[in-house]
Amino acid sequence: MTRSAWLTLTFLLVILLPAGCAPADHEQVTISETSAPEARATAQAPASAIQPLVILYTNDEHGWMEGTEQGRGAANMMGLWREQDGYSEDGPYLILSGGDMWTGPAISSWFDGESMADVMNVMGYDAAAIGNHEFDWGIDGLRDRAAQSEFPFLSANIRRQETGDPAGFAVTFVIQEVGGISVGLIGLTTTSAPRTTMPDNVAELEFIGYQEALKEVVPQVRAGGAELLVVMGHICSDEMEWLVPTAVELGIAVIGGGHCHERVGRVVDGVALIESGSYLQGYVRVDIAFDTATNMVVDISAQYRSNSGGTADPEVAAVVAGWRARADESLTQVIGYLDQPIPNRSHAMVNLVTNAWLEAYPAADVALTNSGGFRQMIPAGEITLEAIIGVLPFDNVLIDVELTGAELIRNIECCGPVAGGMTTAGRYTLSDGTPVDRDATYRVLVNDFMYAGGDGFKFGEQDPDAYNTSIDWRQPVIDWISSLNTSPDDPLDPYLDTENRQW
Ligand SMILES: [Zn+2]
Repeated sequence: MTRSAWLTLTFLLVILLPAGCAPADHEQVTISETSAPEARATAQAPASAIQPLVILYTNDEHGWMEGTEQGRGAANMMGLWREQDGYSEDGPYLILSGGDMWTGPAISSWFDGESMADVMNVMGYDAAAIGNHEFDWGIDGLRDRAAQSEFPFLSANIRRQETGDPAGFAVTFVIQEVGGISVGLIGLTTTSAPRTTMPDNVAELEFIGYQEALKEVVPQVRAGGAELLVVMGHICSDEMEWLVPTAVELGIAVIGGGHCHERVGRVVDGVALIESGSYLQGYVRVDIAFDTATNMVVDISAQYRSNSGGTADPEVAAVVAGWRARADESLTQVIGYLDQPIPNRSHAMVNLVTNAWLEAYPAADVALTNSGGFRQMIPAGEITLEAIIGVLPFDNVLIDVELTGAELIRNIECCGPVAGGMTTAGRYTLSDGTPVDRDATYRVLVNDFMYAGGDGFKFGEQDPDAYNTSIDWRQPVIDWISSLNTSPDDPLDPYLDTENRQW
């Protein structure tokens, strides 16, 4: 049986098995046995009963299948797993994702994540948590990706608001047999999702607390025969830490994270906490020694590893190259029509870009960009994707920064022209005409170049915990122009905002 068929079968079995219908040959374990650290440390069992299990974990891949730099893409990661981690399809390995698999560079976003799901299928992922960005193409888009993926999408804390039932596009948990161990995989999704994805896409959903969800689901996973529990959470490291006592109580061996792009690989009170940074720049390897005679973890360790130096796996490289060819082909795609060119240093250009950002990310109050970031004009005639890339050639992403009005004004005054609001009668006002209140808090969209201190901006110091939306800064512009369906009879020109909104 192929791996994918095996996975599908396992997956079907799990969702078909009602809770409490555990296979008779699976010894049930009590919670205290697996949870007490001292019990793990002193466990003595016949050597033959100790099974190794290796988890290879990534999160926030965000479609970076080609890597953020040469030699650090998906194919190199696969090469490292084979060369450095001894990975083989038949070995005791689980490849897991903490979610936010797409929304990133064009090679991912132009295909609504289909390309990344394809790559992860070839890499042999066993399961993925649902992150906030899995909703970026709506529930239907998420269903499409779930149907395409040869691995289940997991979340135990998403409910339908009306009925309180689990959402239909994900399963709360799955049980997979690896190296003679029944491993229960449970997903968690960040409760910040309603604020970090398009609100419409999650309007009918409720994201319940992590602890509440785990207390509800873990007994079902146990009843289904799981011997070892792994939580794959699209949650940040402070939330992972906070969940450690719950994990100890419930006998959870591993808590995976995501969303905050942190690098975490440590064991706290016997629970491995793991998060791999982002963009496939690295992964976390967890080594577990599991005693199948006593159903206890006898040893566990976790280590972050950089994705560098791996020989590209030919199979993964071929799939990535196929999507690169399709992305290049689509550059000639026409997304609209323009009568007069839009100069790169014009109010029309600045407003086009910053208004599109705000439309794509309505949680922000104001969008700012350095106007030097626009490298070309948009020529008259048919507007192609290539023309938009000409304007915004760098692979920047949008960062959601929280600032006081005073800090906002300081940035405007320090570092040259920015766009996204205006000066009226010597006062700074937002696009809607409201004056900036120095004491109020604003959510401000900037590009990651500005956030990192480019052009002297201070955003990174002012809000070190800003949220990286991972949204390619071109995508909202492409989406807005496309949505208008302009043509020679109905060109883009009258839709443009040419008002002076430059601060
Ligand atoms: Zn996220």
